[in-house]
Amino acid sequence: MSVASAGSFPVSPSPSSNDSAGIRIGELLAARIAALDSGLQRTVWLLNQRIAEPLRARVLARLSRVLGEARQDLNRLAKDLPNLKAGDSARRYRAIREQCDRLFRECLALIEGSLYREAGADGGLCRIADSLIDDLSRRSDEPWGRFTILSEGEYFGEMAEIIRLRFPENSIWSLPLAAHEFGHFFARSVEVKRNDGSDLDSLRTRLMLAKKHSDYAWRRVHEHFADLFATYAIGPAFACVSILLRFDPESAWQAFAEHPPDADRAEMILMGLRKKQEYRWITDFLEATWRDALAQCGQRAVREDKDQPAFKALWDELDFVFSHALEGIAYDGWLRAVPLQAELSDLNQSRIVPPAGSNIADVLNAAWSGRLKLHPGATATIDLLGQRAFVLCDRLAA
Ligand SMILES: [Zn+2]
Repeated sequence: MSVASAGSFPVSPSPSSNDSAGIRIGELLAARIAALDSGLQRTVWLLNQRIAEPLRARVLARLSRVLGEARQDLNRLAKDLPNLKAGDSARRYRAIREQCDRLFRECLALIEGSLYREAGADGGLCRIADSLIDDLSRRSDEPWGRFTILSEGEYFGEMAEIIRLRFPENSIWSLPLAAHEFGHFFARSVEVKRNDGSDLDSLRTRLMLAKKHSDYAWRRVHEHFADLFATYAIGPAFACVSILLRFDPESAWQAFAEHPPDADRAEMILMGLRKKQEYRWITDFLEATWRDALAQCGQRAVREDKDQPAFKALWDELDFVFSHALEGIAYDGWLRAVPLQAELSDLNQSRIVPPAGSNIADVLNAAWSGRLKLHPGATATIDLLGQRAFVLCDRLAA
């Protein structure tokens, strides 16, 4: 039985197929398979119709392939249906259905996000994020070729490989978090594709061992890797947004299903930042701020002794990866960011001339280091600084 013929299966009770006037499970499943298949076809059509170029070209091939694979799975199940026990066919159908649900969620977010972008509702932020990530992609030699959208939170979706920024963000302050999401994409691709005898194999092995242990163990390695990736690749701006705008001192030592404790993340990010002498004042400032926030929320400043060896072991392994396999991604723009910060912070200067070779990461570091020098309550000045940095990022992304 093919999916096409399953579409013509009777879905109303039929005396010829069942004397007790109910629908037999095989018929029920055949009808569900047909409906799911038409949902998959419609999704391909919507992706084609509703996502405008040039964004469409960045995702369509991959998504069409994944949707096509789901259709093939359905087709195989439809063919096997007459020979399967009811329980087995229901189980196989459920597995495909769950996979399709994930796909539909991803495609819906993508269509919504791209329509939102097209309407200009993101204020141009996603285009800047694309440019930032394209640069990371070049530097890490890991082709990305996708685009960013706004969504319910920062997130990297594996199916479409789309990076989401948090709605309703329209400033540059949280943009460094996009680099963390690219770190997830990079680690995922190391996991799936690489096994080439390079130093990245140690990361791959670490992730695979963690996966065998538990889902949380795997997420923990991923999360710390993505944090360090962003720290090394774009510099202090990532540490600033994480510690000053996102991490929660009150629940600092609590592990969540998706994330290790914020206290562990903050410490590892600061350890990464501390490797560069030129970031010293920012690192000291962030560390003092975080420790003070912990103390004021009644949280301890250091982890329990029993957790220390595992934390240290993971740091050593990730530090090895970044020192040996990923030296090429290291941010090298601090000497541009420093004079740029002076220009950005001089609010009387209307036309900013960035140093030659400046990029978006330089502007983010300049803006964040300028912000650290302001009182946190100076919101009007901070907004102005952010707007000036946005305009500059927009120019550099063009
Ligand atoms: Zn993450």
